Amino acid sequence: MISIDSKKLSGPCRCGHNHKMFTRLVRIESGCLQRFDEWMNQAGLTGKRAAVYDENTYAAKGLRRPAAQQEIVLPPKNLHANERATGMVLAQLEEDVKVLIAVGSGTIHDTIRYCAKERGIPFISCPTAASVDGFCSTVSAMTWEGFKKTMPGVAPVMVLADTEVIRQAPLHLALSGVGDILGKYTALLDWNIAHLLTDEFICPVIEDMTRQAVVAVHDSCHQVAKHDPEAFERLTYGLLLSGLAMQMMGNSRPASGAEHHISHFIEMEPESLPLHTMALHGEKVGVGTAIAAGVYHKLAEAEDIRPLLHACVPASDAFFSQIFGVRLQPSVSKENQDDCMTGLSPEKVTECWPAIRKLIQELPTQEELEKLFREIGAKSTLEELNLDPSVLPQLLDYSPFVRNRLTLMRVRRMIGSMR
Ligand SMILES: [Zn+2]
Ligand SMILES: [Zn+2]
Repeated sequence: MISIDSKKLSGPCRCGHNHKMFTRLVRIESGCLQRFDEWMNQAGLTGKRAAVYDENTYAAKGLRRPAAQQEIVLPPKNLHANERATGMVLAQLEEDVKVLIAVGSGTIHDTIRYCAKERGIPFISCPTAASVDGFCSTVSAMTWEGFKKTMPGVAPVMVLADTEVIRQAPLHLALSGVGDILGKYTALLDWNIAHLLTDEFICPVIEDMTRQAVVAVHDSCHQVAKHDPEAFERLTYGLLLSGLAMQMMGNSRPASGAEHHISHFIEMEPESLPLHTMALHGEKVGVGTAIAAGVYHKLAEAEDIRPLLHACVPASDAFFSQIFGVRLQPSVSKENQDDCMTGLSPEKVTECWPAIRKLIQELPTQEELEKLFREIGAKSTLEELNLDPSVLPQLLDYSPFVRNRLTLMRVRRMIGSMR
């Protein structure tokens, strides 16, 4: 059993910021859903409740369904966190509902946190699979009108993670969660690099929480593959801790860097490339992490980066149109309007290069990550995601444009023959 009294994470921090934490309590325990009412009373949450599921979760064996006056069960076919799913929930949701309960995986959570924000009511998170780290997030990771973006949402006031339910979910969901967390290796590296290059804000407490999440999951992932109950508790803890770190930050910076951009780029299925896979978010993130680690270690081989550097040329609408297609171009152009690379000079990159190389040395190598994924039975390469490995160069060049956030992958535009 693990309990996180997240109220304590709210307030003044040694980084100088006043972090806001909406989640008051996180309980990770086998069977905790059986005491749902008790936890609701303890949290002082009263009023009419609506619980939202997809049909598969609703019918899952071993799931103790929280008592709620309204139950909304969504058809799982083509269910994604998008305008269609939120529309279905909001259309059914009774006027006088005071508390929403999300029972399910990431998609249900992202849908519900958006609806809770729309209605101005709190929601309780009951994850049923250890598949993503977004349960405690304040923003909804959605595909809105085809474009992968974060939408306004609210964080759950309470998380009740029943590890016995989570352990019974298909194993590939948990392995996807492992991939999502190991992605923090490159995400944290990118954050530190951005801090060096552009003085972007970084909080040591939030960084440390995210690192703890990586350690917890890295140390237990072999046991997760063996269905070990304690390892599932550690994995769930890692996922929730990473989510709380994002919540403290107010955005996904601690948890999402080049590896997530690779994953999002694949999900967007840009017109110029044959990218279509049924792989899960964390599977794509895991592979993206290994790929990014390979690129970063390769870059770090250059002791002197100066001769390879040139000023960064902003990408044009025509370029975005060509890569993403006319459907996605307006959103991509808008996202990249104030390019985070503006003002970053080759001199600055040269100055920071020794420190960047040092950071990269601490990153696991592509080979180490791929080996680990293979050992636990997770997807480790583009081929295993059912993607053509020949798309790799384009994946590296274009994926940073899905998010206007400084990563070393984006800085590559200034290195060698990169755009
Ligand atoms: Zn802080
Ligand atoms: Zn993720």
